[in-house]
Parts: sequence; structure tokens; C-alpha cells
Amino acid sequence: MADYSRIESALIHGGLYGDPHTGAVNVPIYQTSTYEQKGLGENTGWEYSRTGNPTRAALEALISELEGGRAGFAFGSGMAAITAVLSLFHSKERVIISSNVYGGTFRVLDKVFRNFHIDYEIVDTSNLALLESRITDDVKAILVESPANPLLTITDLKAVAQIAKKHGILSIVDNTFMTPYLQRPIELGTDIVIHSATKYLGGHSDVVAGLVVVNDDDLAQRLAFLQNATGGVLGPFDSFLLIRGIKTLGVRMDRHVENAREAALWLKAHKAVKHIYYPGLAEAKGYEINQRQAKNGGAMISFELYENYDTRVFFRSLKLIALAESLGGVESLVCHPATMTHAAIPREVRERVGITDGLIRLSIGIEHIDDLLADLSQAIEASEIK
Ligand SMILES: *Cc1c(COP(=O)(O)O)cnc(C)c1O
Repeated sequence: MADYSRIESALIHGGLYGDPHTGAVNVPIYQTSTYEQKGLGENTGWEYSRTGNPTRAALEALISELEGGRAGFAFGSGMAAITAVLSLFHSKERVIISSNVYGGTFRVLDKVFRNFHIDYEIVDTSNLALLESRITDDVKAILVESPANPLLTITDLKAVAQIAKKHGILSIVDNTFMTPYLQRPIELGTDIVIHSATKYLGGHSDVVAGLVVVNDDDLAQRLAFLQNATGGVLGPFDSFLLIRGIKTLGVRMDRHVENAREAALWLKAHKAVKHIYYPGLAEAKGYEINQRQAKNGGAMISFELYENYDTRVFFRSLKLIALAESLGGVESLVCHPATMTHAAIPREVRERVGITDGLIRLSIGIEHIDDLLADLSQAIEASEIK
């Protein structure tokens, strides 16, 4: 058992390290669906790979350790993870979600769980008094993202956890944008942490995966049951890819954030930029709260150009930064939330929460900052309506 105290080391040595059979420094890919039993009721602790697989178990132990939780669970996508968590609830119950949650989270609640009479309500969770006033008897959980997608709105996670505890309901945080390297909601009192590990945790845009971490044994048992019963598990090879990705999370995030900070300052000073959303800027709404609960502002930036710039031309003119869904990979990506990640949200709901047609979302990668700024600069110039 390795001895360490800092998260940078836990990223590399955490969870289940290596292979006791051979001394291999990496956990093997146990590409098996089943395990031979000695006799009836005599097994090795492994029975069937939906229920448990050693490679997946190593990943689950790792994410649980990194988030400071009691147990972790790996799923075939972030949405499968969110679906398993929402399966904790029953008909006639309700979940409060923050104003700009991921479009797919809204969609699964609106189009799937509502059919089972599990309802949702969208609340601006950055307003704690408003949030508390919306907790009625049927509300069983508060699900938030901070920073929230795509306006990078900050919610006070400790305060939300306290409000949830006071009312005997669950607090759930989708920590995809921050990762445990920058923010650990369980240390702030959160009950359940969710990740789309497709993003920063995987980090190379080559795997789709989801993770859940819970902070108590009863919730862990219920989640283990739901993971096995609904079956949306992550395969052994993808589990291996995530363990491999997580080892470099610390160095990647440091560069992501360094680049994002420079890009945010550059965009803020640019005459074409009407508005910038980046929680790492001292003047950003929620800056102090974010500084208290996270290491820094992360690496996601959203911005709007003035009306005399054509957003469509901007997207088409980028030569390095790829127009694509997703985020958190080593390569920089740009997206148009209104028609891409948040297209599932009806226009009137979108506009009410500030996701306008002119909004541009940047996932800043780890390329050289000079190349990124040069690309942004030429694309903004090309998009000016003369
Ligand atoms: C991408 C994303 C999801 C969904 O995850 P998938 O892995 O694409 O299923 C959920 N929440 C957030 C914040 C995301 O960015």
C-alpha cells in the first residue's frame, strides 16, 4: 500500500494499485463476463461482470478515494450514471435542478422520469432563499452543477448541502466541470457526486463514461443495487482507459486552467466581446463562493460577441479549435449551446436562463496559449460584419 497525503499522488497511486499476481504496476484489463465457481455458493467474490469486475472495481475505488467518499460506481456514460441516481426516487416525488444543468439531465427528467411521475423543478440555486422556499414535502433532492453548464453560474455547495440536510433530502452535485482535483463536494457535505468521466477525468476525448460517489453506506448499498439492477455498467477496457486518464489529471488541469485564465483575460479585453462568463475572474458573479469551495475557476469559458459579429462565421473560421460537443479533452473545443448541448431545452426556457443564440462555449485545451489566442483572434476578425 503506497503512502501519500496529497491528491496529486492519489491520482496515480489511489484506488487499487497494480496487480498482486505479477507485480504489474497497472491494474490488468479483466476482459471477462463471468468467473468460475468452485462449487455451489463457493465463488472468489466475483460472479458476473455486470455485478462486479476487478478493473471496474479499481476505478470505482479510485474515484471514491479522490472524492473522499465511501463508495464509487462506474457507468457506461454520464447519463447512465445520472439515470441510476434518479432511479433512487419514486412516483409523486420531485427533484430540484439548478437553472443551467446539462441539457441531457433536463431531457431525461422531462422526457423519461416524468413518465414515471417523478417530477422536476428548475430553480436558480445561486439564490439560497429562493431555493429553500421551493422545498415542499414532495421534493426529495437538489441536483446542482457548480460551475453550471454553460453560463458557469456558481452555487454555494456547502449551503445547499446544509439546506438539504435540514429538510432531510439529498444533495447531489454534478462535478464534471471541476473534477475532484479542483473541487470535492463530499467534503462540503454533499451526499452524491456525479461525473461525466467522458470529459476531464478521461481527458483525451476517447471514452464515454460516468461515475457516481456516495458518502454513506446505506446510499452505497442502494446505488450498488441500482447499478446491478439497471445494468448500465462501464466495461473493463473503458475502466482501464479512465484509470490511465486520471493519472495525468493534475498536470492536465494545471495547464487547462493556466490557459483558460489567459484566454479569459484576453477575451475580456477584446473589443468584440460583449460578455464573458468565467468564474476565475475576480469580477465574476459568485467569484468569492467559488474561491472558497474550489481550487480555482476551472477551464470552461463562455462568451458573447457584439451584434456586429456573425457567430456562424466565427465558428466556421476557427482553424485549430474544433467545433464539437463535449469538453475536458486535451484539445480545445468550441460549441454553440443553443443548438448543440442545450438544444433539448425549449427556446423559452433557454432564453429565460440566459442561454442566448449568441452564446459561445469554449473548452480550453492544453495546446500552447499563443496558438489558441491566434486562432480566436483571426476567427473574431473574420466574423466582423463590415
Ligand atoms: C457531458 C455531461 C453529462 C453527460 O455525460 P455523458 O458522458 O455524455 O453521458 C452530464 N453532465 C455534464 C455536466 C456534462 O458535461
